[in-house]
Amino acid sequence: MDIDKIAVLTSGGDAQGMNTVINILVRIAGLRNIEIYGVKDGYKGLYNDDFVKLDNDMVQNISSLGGTILKTARFDEFKKEDVVIKSAQNLKNRQIDALIVIGGDGSFKGALALSRHGVKIIAIPGTIDNDLRYTSKCLGFDTAVNNACKYIENVKQTMSAMNRGVVFEVMGRYCGDIALYCAVSTACDIIAIPEKPITEEELIEKVNYCVKNKNSAPTIVIAEKMFDVRDIAERLKKKTKVDFRYSIVGYIQRGGQPSVADKALAMEFAVRAMELVEDGIFNRAIGVKNDVVFDDSLENALNAKYNFNYGLLNLFYLLNYKKD
Ligand code: ATP
Repeated sequence: MDIDKIAVLTSGGDAQGMNTVINILVRIAGLRNIEIYGVKDGYKGLYNDDFVKLDNDMVQNISSLGGTILKTARFDEFKKEDVVIKSAQNLKNRQIDALIVIGGDGSFKGALALSRHGVKIIAIPGTIDNDLRYTSKCLGFDTAVNNACKYIENVKQTMSAMNRGVVFEVMGRYCGDIALYCAVSTACDIIAIPEKPITEEELIEKVNYCVKNKNSAPTIVIAEKMFDVRDIAERLKKKTKVDFRYSIVGYIQRGGQPSVADKALAMEFAVRAMELVEDGIFNRAIGVKNDVVFDDSLENALNAKYNFNYGLLNLFYLLNYKKD
């Protein structure tokens, strides 16, 4: 199958490694004499026909940048069929043969909708939340956890010096991966995640357990949406003997240079994407399992079963609570 022109877009939240993918796609496209276009602002730019031709000069030195040079957007209108149809038509009018989408599960749903209107899609998982369940890793997750851990370690040290407890809120939407890996890596004491919710009473009980075991500065990691972090820190302060503070780890998780692991993964994903393009195989999602890159149908990717790391969660509980 002859492929002359392709396009790439980044959608949803930005994730470290998106720029690395763009860099590799453009370089391989150049080697294969395939024209490559960037779509600005995710699906919003696709709908508004906002394209830019990419070349090697434009992507030089972007591999180590966080964010995305193409920009990204949340564009709820894309859930409407007429918006998808017009966007697919924009690609057709420009005679673009295939579209590479880098994003999270929402972006994959948009990609599936486009594929149902004749667009040839390759989807690459890029979301710090790590909530696409067909792949063990999404681009950005490793960097986000590393950024968050550095922040948590720093804050933990000052809190410990003052004998203060602290509740950290990390990102992840409805997925506890960032919270779990942060809690384990920084040796926090208590965790609250959607995969194993915990009540306020249980939190108090666990704080008391820490105090009883001579830990005067318990640290708690909560995934966003589990509690109002300011409120729960205030209530713990009132209901336990610990002087609690709260800390929202925030955008530092998204920013900055991708980790080596994310860069390597981005390169592998981009190479596989271009192989699929050249082989004329479309409507595939690229992923990784046991360090091996694979691709599966978009439908399978979106319907994949939950693969939360309960082994790691059990380890966390084993290390932190002794059975009476
Ligand atoms: P992140 O995990 O970083 O938040 P995401 O891709 O899941 O990334 P969303 O905001 O959920 O982020 O989705 C990104 C975009 O994908 C939306 O703004 C919208 O344009 C499109 N999208 C989301 N859900 C759908 C859907 N059901 N149908 C069509 N398009 C969708």
